[in-house]
Amino acid sequence: MINPNYKALLSGKSIIRELSEYATERGREIGYENVFDYSLGNPSVPGPVSFTDTMLELLRDSDPVTIHGYSPSLGIQQVRQAVAESLNRRFGTCYDTKHIFMTCGAAGAVAHAVRCVTVPGDEVLTFAPFFPEYTQYVNRTGAILKVVPANTETFQINFDAFEEMLTERVAAVLINTPNNPSGIVYTTETITRLADVLRRKQKQYGHDIFLISDEPYREIVFEGVDSPFVAKFYDNTLTCYSFSKSLSVPGERIGYIAVNPNATDADIIAVICGQISRGIGHNCPPSIIQLAVSRVLDQTSDLSVYETNMNLIYNKLIDLGFTVVKPGGTFYIFPKALEDDANVFCMKAKKYDLILVPADNFGCTGYFRMAYCIGTEKVIRSLDVLEKFVKTEYPEKY
Ligand code: PLP
Repeated sequence: MINPNYKALLSGKSIIRELSEYATERGREIGYENVFDYSLGNPSVPGPVSFTDTMLELLRDSDPVTIHGYSPSLGIQQVRQAVAESLNRRFGTCYDTKHIFMTCGAAGAVAHAVRCVTVPGDEVLTFAPFFPEYTQYVNRTGAILKVVPANTETFQINFDAFEEMLTERVAAVLINTPNNPSGIVYTTETITRLADVLRRKQKQYGHDIFLISDEPYREIVFEGVDSPFVAKFYDNTLTCYSFSKSLSVPGERIGYIAVNPNATDADIIAVICGQISRGIGHNCPPSIIQLAVSRVLDQTSDLSVYETNMNLIYNKLIDLGFTVVKPGGTFYIFPKALEDDANVFCMKAKKYDLILVPADNFGCTGYFRMAYCIGTEKVIRSLDVLEKFVKTEYPEKY
């Protein structure tokens, strides 16, 4: 028998994936250049040449049995060491090899982190708007994801609601900065306050509250925006990182957890994650990709196109009268729709081959997300279409 719980999930498929599939199908009909697909967060720029060269070198010069062999379950020792050293160099931290656990992307990292610091029935808090896959990452472990309502003025943390929801049942808080979908980067003030609240509540409840900091967009931060390294503010932090966006390699499935050396049981968390991976079968990330990223740790793709695209879109949205908070990073922007139901708004946009994602699943009704990881030339053409859509469908707003 097929597990009915999983069968039931078929009615709740990812709207992002569905819209992306629609855009691909539509592209086949009318030509891809005519579909303005803002659905999926798939990087649009190639990885650095150094990454490609490293891959070629590894393939050409290394022992094939080794580079295509199983990785140790915690990751290749020299890779873990290189990751720790890179973090220490860049952020003034003091990670050791034993604090790094290699994963299949940020998804793998968060899946392990949640399992490691919760038991079924525990609550995990996250903040709206949030990446919808968090529901899957958390609830399927038996823990329960609870969403703190958004502060829609700034998309920083709504501290009043947070403190109210941070009860004794909460074992972990899951944050994402720079944020998908808002593009907002948490300020030093926000992270300091968050850490203060967590420390106070840990003391009050007499148990650990772990901070799981999901940071796949850490490197995509725009000019003049400060992006503090979260783990420096709070000891019980598990930093979940991915190379998917910084090196434009989402298909290679590579990332890591960095365990703050001052966290409770810091020395055994990576080992525990190794045991967790046996159970979820999400283990031993590809050896060759681990080795390749370890040689380009401090490099990124040319990420500048995302800021160029953001400015073009943001300025146009403001011109057209949208309410929108200016992103500080990522390749997402999160405007308020021009009518209450963002689903209807996005359906109307679809008629113009403008693919926008309604944000109900992101915990923020009435908003929509644009993933502007597409070519700038296409962004420019899409802005005329956006204008036509708004003026035609919402003449009273314009
Ligand atoms: N977390 C966030 C906030 C994301 O946006 C994504 C992917 O888009 C992930 C996690 C998963 O990333 P990965 O491809 O590294 O598994």
